[in-house]
Amino acid sequence: MLDMKFIHNHADQLQQIADQKGIAVSIAAVIESDVRRLDLLQQVEALRRTRNELAQRSASMDRASSEAMRIQAEARHQGAVLKGLERELRDAVQAWHELMLLVPNLASPDTPIGVSDADNVEVKRVGDSPRFGFDARDHIALGEACDLFDFARGVKVAGTRQYFLRGAGLYLHRAVQQLALDMLSDRGFTVMDVPLLAREDALTNTGFFPGGREQTYALPEDGAWLVGTGEVPLVSYYSDEIVDVTEPIKLAAVSNCFRREAGSAGRDVRGLYRVHQFAKVEQVILCRDDLDVAENMLQQLVHNSEELLEQLELPYRIVAVCTGDMGQKNYKQYDIETWMPSRDGYGETHSASSLLEFQARRSRIRYRDEEGQTRYCYTLNNTMVASPRILIPLIENHQQADESIRIPTALQPYMRGMTEIRPA
Ligand code: AMP
Repeated sequence: MLDMKFIHNHADQLQQIADQKGIAVSIAAVIESDVRRLDLLQQVEALRRTRNELAQRSASMDRASSEAMRIQAEARHQGAVLKGLERELRDAVQAWHELMLLVPNLASPDTPIGVSDADNVEVKRVGDSPRFGFDARDHIALGEACDLFDFARGVKVAGTRQYFLRGAGLYLHRAVQQLALDMLSDRGFTVMDVPLLAREDALTNTGFFPGGREQTYALPEDGAWLVGTGEVPLVSYYSDEIVDVTEPIKLAAVSNCFRREAGSAGRDVRGLYRVHQFAKVEQVILCRDDLDVAENMLQQLVHNSEELLEQLELPYRIVAVCTGDMGQKNYKQYDIETWMPSRDGYGETHSASSLLEFQARRSRIRYRDEEGQTRYCYTLNNTMVASPRILIPLIENHQQADESIRIPTALQPYMRGMTEIRPA
């Protein structure tokens, strides 16, 4: 959410950004609805004053006098008009609020302009893709050979795109998360286990609703939703609070994530790439509203994930995400894509975003500046690791000729000392 005064003063710029982000909202309509809301508010307040004056006048009179009766009749009439106007005001406020939720965040000046992920711009590439001297397998074949996953029974029990992780597959899944948590703890993050259900407000305030409703599993009987990312509970942790961001607040959550993935199809839905349930260690930072601090924090968040990929000995690249691919709420976004041999290309494994005050304004997370004024914080987030997607590059890049999988040194302590996973 942006400040209404800012929207009035930057209407053209915001309309251009909405168009570039592919968001169907008319900034002129937002402004119009704000003007209408304020106009109705003024009328309601004026009528309330008139009604109160009439009530006071009639109270000081002989109630049976004809003048008092005339005033009472007038007060009743004004009361009825007021009731109608109050109803109109309520509707106008709701219409304005619904439109406000669609207004996009600004895009940073260095964000590439583009329509889809094809327009993202590579900014860094690390490591070489492996050259196998044998017939390389994809993660599905390797998983079968080493008995790491069971897709067929996942579908039987839970429906499409569900899976069981078995034995070393489960250990790998937990090992990457534990390594990620340990690295973040060492870097000053407060690590948390978080609720996997969220109230509607939390999803709206973090910017996932209204846009992402159809991608979210609803639990209507409980007035709750299943979270698609730990970012929702982590950012909402401080909603409606005044926090101390003298030093940036660094939080990390480990959580399962649930996504309906409505409308996704094609190669992404094979194997472990795009599933309905996965686990993620997510980083979130809250800091003061300073662009330099936010940029510095974004770089730190990206750097943390790069260090994890280095520990996992995986080749990757970083792309600057373009306007059309960055979504409504982001001001600036980098994705990290890791080399996946079976795709003969990079696949997204991490997504880092800077949101300025977009989430904090909706969530009412503030801090006091040096003058004691309350201001909205800036928020940022990045994936530290998401599994099982990361298992795709992990097992495909580290496969060996005999279908065994080499375990990177940094993961071995979390894998009961195993140095490789052998075919079953
Ligand atoms: P996001 O929270 O959408 O920025 O996604 C962060 C990371 O979570 C992605 O880069 C993927 O590694 C992982 N991820 C997102 N959606 C899925 C999914 N449906 N299945 C598996 N992993 C996913």
